[in-house]
Amino acid sequence: MFATPESESFSQSSETIPSRAQPKIPVKYTRRLLFWYIHYKLRPPLHTPFYQDQPYIYPVYLDIPSPEIYLIAFLLGILTDAPLTVRHIFEDNHNWGAFRIVEKDNLRDVEINEVNKMLSCKDASRGFFTYLCEHCRTKLIVHFGCNSRICSNCGKNHTDKWARSLQNALFNVPHRHAVLTIPDALWPVVKNNRFLQKVLMDAAIVAINDTISYRHRGGRLRAGAIVVLHPFSKKMGFNPHLHILVTEGGFDKQDNFIHQKYIPFNAMRKTWQYQVLTSFKAALPKEAVYSVLINQLFKKYRKGFYVYLPKEARITNKKRIAKYVARYIRHPAVANTRLHRYDGKTVTFWYGDHDGTRHFVTMTVREFIQALIQHIPDRNFKMIRYYGAYSRRIKGRYSKHLQRSIKQATFDDFLKSPNKWAPTCPNCGEKMTFVYYEKGPPKENEVFGCKLPDWNHPMLSPSYN
Ligand SMILES: [Zn+2]
Ligand SMILES: [Zn+2]
Ligand SMILES: [Zn+2]
Repeated sequence: MFATPESESFSQSSETIPSRAQPKIPVKYTRRLLFWYIHYKLRPPLHTPFYQDQPYIYPVYLDIPSPEIYLIAFLLGILTDAPLTVRHIFEDNHNWGAFRIVEKDNLRDVEINEVNKMLSCKDASRGFFTYLCEHCRTKLIVHFGCNSRICSNCGKNHTDKWARSLQNALFNVPHRHAVLTIPDALWPVVKNNRFLQKVLMDAAIVAINDTISYRHRGGRLRAGAIVVLHPFSKKMGFNPHLHILVTEGGFDKQDNFIHQKYIPFNAMRKTWQYQVLTSFKAALPKEAVYSVLINQLFKKYRKGFYVYLPKEARITNKKRIAKYVARYIRHPAVANTRLHRYDGKTVTFWYGDHDGTRHFVTMTVREFIQALIQHIPDRNFKMIRYYGAYSRRIKGRYSKHLQRSIKQATFDDFLKSPNKWAPTCPNCGEKMTFVYYEKGPPKENEVFGCKLPDWNHPMLSPSYN
């Protein structure tokens, strides 16, 4: 990815391997030892703390003509499995190409586009930034991310950025996290009528305001809620449910915040059921099959639809919110870290349940691709919506409860002072200088590059490479 002019001058370390190759060291420790050895013992003299953040430069080590190095490289090859990625599974053996041919009549355009975007993530064809270190002449090329809805690289960047911006966007009041669910009989209805996803999200705020105003005598309160749609279950099945981050209380007519420490989420179950079923009824075509189903669901769930409060449901520390959000609220259908095994025909991944036990699920490659892409939302569909006191229209009214909102950098900002976002040199740690950027041809219908975060610039996101 980048060339270090000093590479050739790296001197070989003449130290021998510490005699630690004891037979019964678990693989985990062996690996750690090798990592330590390579990084700290054979490390080039130009080491800086920043160096560690970069990928290993194997050729440097392999050039050194010492048998122990070959041995280490060999062991490393055996002990370190290349990490499994969603992208690899799609690319390997033309899995995606084959899937496209077989399923060509059932694929949505947005599914094809998002997968193709993911497959070109960080390709030189998408464009890149070039930086130069004026200190040691190291050149660094940083590729653009794809921002595909199913790209695990870019997904993580998005989550990190969103979580950080959330710290500033939330009111200085305690918040609650709750999960609102609908019964399984409604899942296929939502899957086949995707517009119901928004109807579902809209129903949440009405139910919340009802619940929060329930005990307040001085009129209706307006809560602020951030609603995130999860279309999937942990097993990657289609199971639409909502995660809500809601103020613990609401604003009255005088714009004062009325704190309601006790939110009767259990009592909310019936309100939630009522709001979902009546708004679905209004939104669906007037067919007997739907009205029968809706009446049945009123009768069958007399206690209302299930509302679930996760363990750390009460969030009072805004600093911890970023971590919390990444863990519970915004995560991909399956993260690369949850992929366990892929043998060319089947994929095994795991999920953890409430008490932390791991469950393994095995699917054929075709089922896996199908399961993953069904969760790609329609183009321009917003998976996160801001309601009540958080809705953009009226949020300003309550600004005294806000810290400050941060303005997102635009591409124009970048052009005015490109060095503001320059990374530090991987070699010597000096701040690098922006040289130029090259942007790939715009892909069909692609809205890309008007906001700087779209470019997945390294200084705007902690995880790159
Ligand atoms: Zn990407
Ligand atoms: Zn969820
Ligand atoms: Zn440098």
